[in-house]
Amino acid sequence: MNFELDAKYLDVQEQARGFARSIEHLAVAADDMSEVHPGLLEALRESELSRLMVPSEYGGVSTSLDPLAICLVREVLMATSCQADSLFAMQGIGSFAITVSGSDKQCKQWLPRIASAECLPAFALTEPGSGSDLKSIKAEVVSEGDGLRLNGKKSFISNAGAAAYYIAFARDGGGFSMFLVPADSNGVSVEPTPDVIAPHVMGEVTFDNVRVPNDARLGEGGDGLDLVLATLGVFRVSVAGAAVGLAQAALEEAVRHTSTRIQFGRPLNRLGPVAQMLADCWTEIEMARLITYRAAYLAGTDSLANVHYSSMAKLGASEMASRVVDRCVQMMGRFGLIRNSKMERLYRQARPMRIYEGASEVLRQSIAKKLSEEFL
Ligand SMILES: Cc1cc2nc3c(=O)[nH]c(=O)nc-3n(C[C@H](O)[C@H](O)[C@H](O)COP(=O)(O)OP(=O)(O)OC[C@H]3O[C@@H](n4cnc5c(N)ncnc54)[C@H](O)[C@@H]3O)c2cc1C
Repeated sequence: MNFELDAKYLDVQEQARGFARSIEHLAVAADDMSEVHPGLLEALRESELSRLMVPSEYGGVSTSLDPLAICLVREVLMATSCQADSLFAMQGIGSFAITVSGSDKQCKQWLPRIASAECLPAFALTEPGSGSDLKSIKAEVVSEGDGLRLNGKKSFISNAGAAAYYIAFARDGGGFSMFLVPADSNGVSVEPTPDVIAPHVMGEVTFDNVRVPNDARLGEGGDGLDLVLATLGVFRVSVAGAAVGLAQAALEEAVRHTSTRIQFGRPLNRLGPVAQMLADCWTEIEMARLITYRAAYLAGTDSLANVHYSSMAKLGASEMASRVVDRCVQMMGRFGLIRNSKMERLYRQARPMRIYEGASEVLRQSIAKKLSEEFL
């Protein structure tokens, strides 16, 4: 057993660190915006990291996507900028359904532009009345003449307004399908989402009698839920990577602060309870990192068969990040509360991770179900 990353992964980490260094000066501004920061997007293009999200025949780096490489990049990016992490992640989440089910024409039209980050995608499942319970969506596609007509409203959609196309999840006959809808189609409109605690590029998307050709349907009719599962199988674990990076960044801030701030005649980190909190944080981060890398490795071998590991990693790491950053704020006292300081931003950015791509409670349900299947 070898716990070291090999040269290929060390290179990916280095590439991600180079990108992170190049945007460090933009991070506070970008993470305070609900629109794409132009300088950050330009730097993402220059980094060529989006090539990790697309197979090599369309400009990507390898024949199939590598969840461990994606995790490693998110770990680095989230420590620097939430927007950089989100833009990078969305390049994969919003293109994977095309990669696995798109026609030759769709793959050739969109995937090279995703690989170069020339365009941004969006993945639209959530609706005002439907979040965790995907099967309760109302968006619907019906056949009309020689094509299709889509109606529905999607809510909290990352990249809405900036995306070149939407992968939209909708009712289709008796089942559900995914549809590739160019953002400039007649009847597509975007409104801002209410402000959230950690600003995020997202919006509410309305599809009002949007006409699309029959081949906008990805895969066979009724494949929609399978495509959602396939996408989450590859990308859910990457949220765990981002959570580990966020927690590590918080801990490093706390270590710097507690080693230089003197109270009661000693640095804070020499006071027993503070030292214990530091040790607990480090230990929990290392545990989360291990399950994350293992789950990512397993997702690379068979993402669907191992989706419960990805769920465990996402659950464990996102919950860990919240605990760790909360303790780190505590160790920094009032200095951890200053608006837009590094620690305060990390504190706000940790919270949504326990809700999106499977709320913790929903993940626990599916993990417990798998446990019964395995051992009973
Ligand atoms: C920053 C951010 C970006 C997002 N980007 C996207 C995007 O790009 N595309 C997209 O489609 N969506 C996106 N979302 C929406 C996200 O997917 C939903 O918020 C998520 O699916 C949860 O749905 P909900 O918020 O409606 O919560 P609900 O489904 O209403 O659930 C609320 C709470 O109820 C509990 N709960 C729900 N179901 C169960 C259950 N079965 N068992 C036990 N407890 C349960 C959980 O505690 C859960 O947190 C984004 C959200 C955020 C915060």
